[in-house]
Amino acid sequence: MNLIIKNGRIITAEKTVSADIGIEKGKIVKIGKGIKSAGARVIDAKGKFVMPGGIDMHVHLNLFFCGSYSENWDTATQAASCGGVTTIIDFAFQKKGDSLKKAIEERKADAEGKVAIDYSLHGGITDWNEQTKNEMNDLTINGGIPSFKMFMIYKSQGWMADDGILFSALEQTAKTGAIIMLYAESAFILDLLVERYHTKEMMKKYGAYCHTLSRPCFTEYEAVQRAAMWAKVTGGRVYIVHTSTSESAEIVAKAKKEGVQIWNETCPQYLLLTDDVYKKANGHYYACCPQMKKKHDAQGLLKAVKSGAVSVLSTDTCTFNTKQKNMWEGDFTKIPYGLPGVETLLPTMFTFLVGKNKISPNKFVSLVSTNPAKLFGLYPQKGDIKVGSDADIVIFDPNKKVTIDYKKLATKCDWSPFQGMKLTGYPETTISRGEIVAENGKFVGKKGHGRFVPRKPGGKL
Ligand SMILES: [Zn+2]
Repeated sequence: MNLIIKNGRIITAEKTVSADIGIEKGKIVKIGKGIKSAGARVIDAKGKFVMPGGIDMHVHLNLFFCGSYSENWDTATQAASCGGVTTIIDFAFQKKGDSLKKAIEERKADAEGKVAIDYSLHGGITDWNEQTKNEMNDLTINGGIPSFKMFMIYKSQGWMADDGILFSALEQTAKTGAIIMLYAESAFILDLLVERYHTKEMMKKYGAYCHTLSRPCFTEYEAVQRAAMWAKVTGGRVYIVHTSTSESAEIVAKAKKEGVQIWNETCPQYLLLTDDVYKKANGHYYACCPQMKKKHDAQGLLKAVKSGAVSVLSTDTCTFNTKQKNMWEGDFTKIPYGLPGVETLLPTMFTFLVGKNKISPNKFVSLVSTNPAKLFGLYPQKGDIKVGSDADIVIFDPNKKVTIDYKKLATKCDWSPFQGMKLTGYPETTISRGEIVAENGKFVGKKGHGRFVPRKPGGKL
């Protein structure tokens, strides 16, 4: 063995045990008391939680916007590792009229040699036709990519999956075990309402708050309801991304009870913030789609997280710095939508859920690691601490006090939506396939250590 973690409390989704972990060639090879091995590096984890590394299965890294990148593959994945995340899943969006496979090959080539932790990609479908359908099925069965994003909105961009497209794609997933990750909002109503607020008078009066006014909660949950129906009648598999309303969570929970293959995620911003942020002087910084909703929604989502109706916590990280955000010129439709967050996922959610709302640390592990691994075909290679799994581990200090300050985070982003938030619990050491990649908030790993991980279809919870 080359690395031993001693005296920690091992927390998995299923149980908590006090034991040592022996690691060799990137894998967990032994779990037990008093593990010894000549020449192995030993980490003493006394008083610490030893958990499977976080899996943030919804990120958009290395985005080019208005002449610059706010983050690159390397800086973003280094920041992720500092926050205890050991696997990310990003997206490869098909260009209209072009091949889905080509988009994936290009995005993979772009990330290769730069990412600091292991990664995968979801296919992004913007042009549904016979070729796309065949590529989707082939990627699912032979390509290690069994998940595909579709949008119910973006009509004018031509990316929209209308009901017929969604229905057809879901029929395929019933056969192959792929999963459609769905951006659910009502395209026609949304466009109508955005137009209504997109006037000089309204924008002068309400500023960035127009973003909230033009996207009432029903624009989301009407679409979630429709998606649940199409999943039910096709027997297909659907995953609602970034659930932001209480009603959406209830619709998903009800459909799940009826046996529909539907799952969903929410993100820290929907649990920790409300749409009051859009009234702030820098309200436009917080613009993301969907936007944060009311206190009632945050409470409903918390309830759904606790009951198991929400299966996954991810971040939808899509980082824009203040210079990029400030290009909006008072027009809420021109804000680059998205928030930073992959680095603060584990510590914010640990403080909020385990510390304040008393979910068990095991349940926490299921939400940030085991469930996404199972649902998206990474389990048991990732998402657990067991013999044979990758040694992707976060040693977490449950008592460490940290106040979030973007200046001290590893991310290049020059602001944080959670600035000033007081946390109890922070990652101390992050291990990716047996290599120590981050210590006390600093990246200590190697550029390009991360590898593409092929995934399997048919994941369930
Ligand atoms: Zn997203």
